[in-house]
Formats: sequence, structure tokens, C-alpha cells
Amino acid sequence: MALPTRKFDAVVVGAGGAGLRAALQLSEAGLKVGVLSKVFPTRSHTVAAQGGIGASLGNMGDDSWLWHMYDTVKGSDYLGDQDAIEFMCRMAPEVVYELEHFGMPFDRNNDGTVYQRPFGGHSQNFGERPVQRSCCAADRTGHAMLHTLYQRNVRANTVFFVEWMALDLVRDASGQVLGVTAMEMETGEVWMFHARATLFATGGAGRIFAASTNAFINTGDGLGMAARAGIPLEDMEFWQFHPTGVAGAGVLITEGVRGEGGYLLNKDGERFMERYAPTMKDLASRDVVSRAMATEIKEGRGCGKDADYILLKLDHLGVDVIEKRLPGIREIAKKFANVDPVRDPIPVVPTCHYQMGGIPTNYHGEVVVPAGDDPAVVVPGFYAAGECACASVHGANRLGTNSLTDLLVFGKASGNRVIEFLRENPGHKDLPADAAERTLARLARLDGQTGGESVHEVGAAMRRTMQAHCGVFRFPDMLTEGVEQIRAVSERVKRTEIKDKSRTFNTARVEALELENLIEVARATMVSAEARQESRGAHDRADHHQRDDVNWLKHTLWYRDDDRLDYKPVKMKPLTAETFEPKVRSY
Ligand SMILES: Cc1cc2nc3c(=O)[nH]c(=O)nc-3n(C[C@H](O)[C@H](O)[C@H](O)COP(=O)(O)OP(=O)(O)OC[C@H]3O[C@@H](n4cnc5c(N)ncnc54)[C@H](O)[C@@H]3O)c2cc1C
Repeated sequence: MALPTRKFDAVVVGAGGAGLRAALQLSEAGLKVGVLSKVFPTRSHTVAAQGGIGASLGNMGDDSWLWHMYDTVKGSDYLGDQDAIEFMCRMAPEVVYELEHFGMPFDRNNDGTVYQRPFGGHSQNFGERPVQRSCCAADRTGHAMLHTLYQRNVRANTVFFVEWMALDLVRDASGQVLGVTAMEMETGEVWMFHARATLFATGGAGRIFAASTNAFINTGDGLGMAARAGIPLEDMEFWQFHPTGVAGAGVLITEGVRGEGGYLLNKDGERFMERYAPTMKDLASRDVVSRAMATEIKEGRGCGKDADYILLKLDHLGVDVIEKRLPGIREIAKKFANVDPVRDPIPVVPTCHYQMGGIPTNYHGEVVVPAGDDPAVVVPGFYAAGECACASVHGANRLGTNSLTDLLVFGKASGNRVIEFLRENPGHKDLPADAAERTLARLARLDGQTGGESVHEVGAAMRRTMQAHCGVFRFPDMLTEGVEQIRAVSERVKRTEIKDKSRTFNTARVEALELENLIEVARATMVSAEARQESRGAHDRADHHQRDDVNWLKHTLWYRDDDRLDYKPVKMKPLTAETFEPKVRSY
């Protein structure tokens, strides 16, 4: 059956920071661009970003892109591709200045330059001392950025499809991507978006875990769509647990709090990070701080009656600094932890926050897959940027502020690459006869299913399994069991039933479709984690405590069919700099 069809030069799925930055590049080049989003663009998850954008402007003291690059390579535990990391760190100041000229209301120094705060893992002179590199708008950086980019897009005539959910990727027999199928969430109508180039910017999938800082819309739709269309997912075992989620609520307390001088305490009132990271202390990289906190709790030095959280102290900063630099944090602490941080410390625990892996791309944002002896063959017409993509600049652990840098740099770069591709490939290729088949089969199954399990229960089983079997510390028997359990949940997803047949805003249908994406991400994560027999960055195994560069300095690729795994080399050669060779990572 043919669907009603809309045609664009480029379709961008996602209107967060990455999608908006890419769409702006395309629309300003005069292309006809359609952007689809499940929510109004300025409600995309980027709106929650608090702490800032990493860029070596050097406004607060000496800084250089090479130091930023060193910190990022080290932060990635040497799994990041050094060509992409160099590209990102060199481009970072340019995309921040652009944003400034677009009208972004950055915090300012007295001399009018952009204010920058310190952040975990960022240093001067190759690890010597903390540096102030994070460009911020108080603790509402993402909010300011999204509004700035959205307004620019409106001016550039980008066409927005708000509350539209992309369902499946359309590829022809040669593998070229020709667009997506999508559902208008209010009416349930399904359309074909026929595009000469398709760019995914669908954000993260933190909702595979029970405790997460992520919004409910972060369901890994881009990853699910790519996996179903035969694209492998890269490095999915690496998930960042942010040290400071509000205990019991999961809401994020930015690292900017520690950047401004806040610190962590155990039940004895000890500033324990001095033991784990003598130089960077509370500003060590996130995997290091999260593990230290989990260890303190495990060894009985947690706070509260159940000894199950850590305290984040910031009252010594004074009410003026807190009100000026961290007003949103004060609000969150009052609302979600019932404490006013001007007087009392905030109870915090490590909470799932960010996916380092994703759809494999090069540093131009082109999606690349292995074919024959070549580990990176470009999939024509398909691009990805932002958290859904794996460029890979974050490797095994992302540094704070580098996600906003990533989405600005690679949003723009992928836009530029699409422009080149469209110049060389004029006109729309014909859609294959079966272009809508996968989507229609999924909807027919869901709408026709009776006597199945509820989406809510199966989703909860997935989140429990991920939380228990694939958290901050990972144990071999738990991972093996986790693979069995997540495969069983995956089978249950195939039999879920939409219990609410009212179709009011199609909410129940959307949740069922999202679960089909989440489960692909959960399986990719568990299977990839079980296979990686070492500890690196955010992946910490009890049976293999050390990093193993001889056997495991390589990227994982997970294929949906048969949960197959493959591996490809890390790109150790930067574009112009010298390679940063792996060494012991200490802070
Ligand atoms: C609380 C919090 C604070 C953070 N603070 C920082 C920080 O200070 N600095 C930093 O660098 N990083 C920070 N991060 C991480 C960073 O905010 C995110 O990684 C980044 O914003 C992701 O941007 P994105 O454009 O890739 O995706 P998102 O902003 O998540 O946007 C995804 C878009 O895709 C759309 N979408 C998804 N699926 C579909 C579909 N099927 N159909 C149509 N549309 C779809 C959504 O509607 C949305 O528009 C923070 C994260 C959290 C959770």
C-alpha cells in the first residue's frame, strides 16, 4: 500500500540541539528541509542541559584545542576516534562564537567576553590543573541554546512537523536511504517523507534504565529504526552514570555545582574524592566519581538511614553565587529533595545519564558500516548527529559539556556534508514498492493484537533488568543472566497489546512503538556489555578490573539480527596532531 507522501531535499528527524543546528545549515543553504519532532522543538531534551558547552576560548586563563583534545581522548579511556576528537575540539570555539552571534544569552565576564566555568576532566596543560572551559548561560544553557537555534530556523524557513513520530527508515535495494515513514501523533495518520537525504538527531535512550536523568521521550527511536534497517549500533555497552542525580528522583544536579566549588561528602563528613582523585578531586571524570560514590555506599559510608546516598555540599558558596550561577539547581533541590542548598547539602546518587554509543558515523556525520575489508563504508543518503550518533568522540566515557559541543560541531558538519551530497545527487530516487511495508506490518500487529501483555508491564521489566544487571558495576554472572532476561523481555515486546483502544492522541500507540525501539537499545547494550571482557571508562567489570588494550582497544558493533557482534579498530591517528597513546588514566 502506498502512503500519502511529502517530498523534501532533506528530512531531519529530531529538533533538539543537533537537529536544529543541522537543519539551520541546510535551510540557510536554500534547501527545502522538513524537521520532525515528537515534541515542540524547544521541549526537546537539550532544554535540560545545565552546565555548558566545552570550548577552549581561553577567556578565563590559558587554554588550547590541543589540551581539550587531550582531555577528551583521556576521558574516553582511549576508545574515542582521535580524528573526530581533533575535529570537534578545533571547531568548538567557532560554533560557540556562531551561537553567540545568533543571539545566545551567555553569561558574561566584566570585559564582555563569555564566562566559562570549570568542569570534570577538563584541564590545562595536559592534566596539570583544572581549567575553566565550559561556556554557559547560568544553569540553563540548553534552554537558551534551543530557543536561539529554533528562532534562527524559523527565520530560515525550516518546515517543522511538531508531534510527528518517525517510525521506520526507508532504504532501497542498493542500501541508499530515501526517507522515513512517520505518524502524526494527534490523528494517527501515517505518511511517507521522501527525502534526498535523511539525518537522524533523535537523541538518547536513557529510558532503558529505571533510574535516569533522561526525559520520557528519550526512547532511542533513531537507534531502533537504524537497527531494524540493518545498520549496526556501535559501543552500546558504554553508558554514563552521572554522579549527581537527586536520590530517589533521578533529576540531574549539574556538575557545574562542583565546577563552582561544591563537593561530595560521605556519612563521616569526609571529602572522599581526595582519596580517589588527588589532583582533580570532585572534578575527576564522571565514571571515576560515580564509581567512587558507589564504592563509598557499598562499603557502608553512605548517608541517611539506609546509608544509600552521598551528600553534595554547596552552602559555603553563599547565596549570591548560588542565585547568580545555579538558580535552577536551588529550585530542583527544593522541589525534588526538599532541601534548600543555601543551608543544607543535597542527597545524590549516580544515575543513568548519557549513551556514549549509537549509530556509527565519521566526523562528517555520514553513517558508516563495515563492508568486506573496509570498516567504514558510507551509507548513501543517511546521516546522524548528536546523542543518537557515535562519531566516536566520547569513546568509553564522555566529559561533561562535550555533548553540547558534539551536537553543535557535528550538527553543522553533517549539514555541510548533506549539502555536498545533494549537489552531486540531484533529484529524488524512486521509492521501492515495499517502502512502507515494515511500518504497516508493525502497526497492523499492534492494532490487531489481543490477549497480549501491557506495554507498561513489559517496559517496566526491561528497565528493572537493565538497572539490576548492567549498572555502574558489572558482574559476569549478572551479565550472562541479563542477556537471557533481556532476550526474554524482547520476545514479550512482540506480544504487547495496546490496552487503551481510545486512540486519544494515540498516546498508548506511541508508547508501544517507543518500547519497540527501547528494547533494541537494551539488547544491544546487554549483549555488547557481556562480551567486553575488560574495564574501560564507564564499563566496569568485577572479573576484569583492568583496561586491556591488547585485546579490547576496538569498537563494538551490534547487529540486530541474531544479536551478532563484530568489532572495528579505533582511529588512533588524529588529523594533524600527534596520537595520544593510551596510558594509565589517573586524575
Ligand atoms: C539533565 C541533563 C543535563 C545535561 N547537561 C548537559 C550540559 O550541561 N552539557 C552537555 O554537553 N551535555 C549535557 N547533557 C547532555 C545533553 O543535553 C544531551 O546529550 C543533548 O542535549 C542531546 O541532544 P540531541 O540534539 O542529540 O537530542 P535531544 O535534545 O534529546 O533531541 C531529540 C529530538 O529527537 C526527537 N525525536 C526522537 N525520536 C523521534 C521520532 N521517532 N520521531 C520524531 N522525532 C523524534 C525529539 O522530539 C527531540 O526533538 C545533559 C543531559 C541531561 C539529561
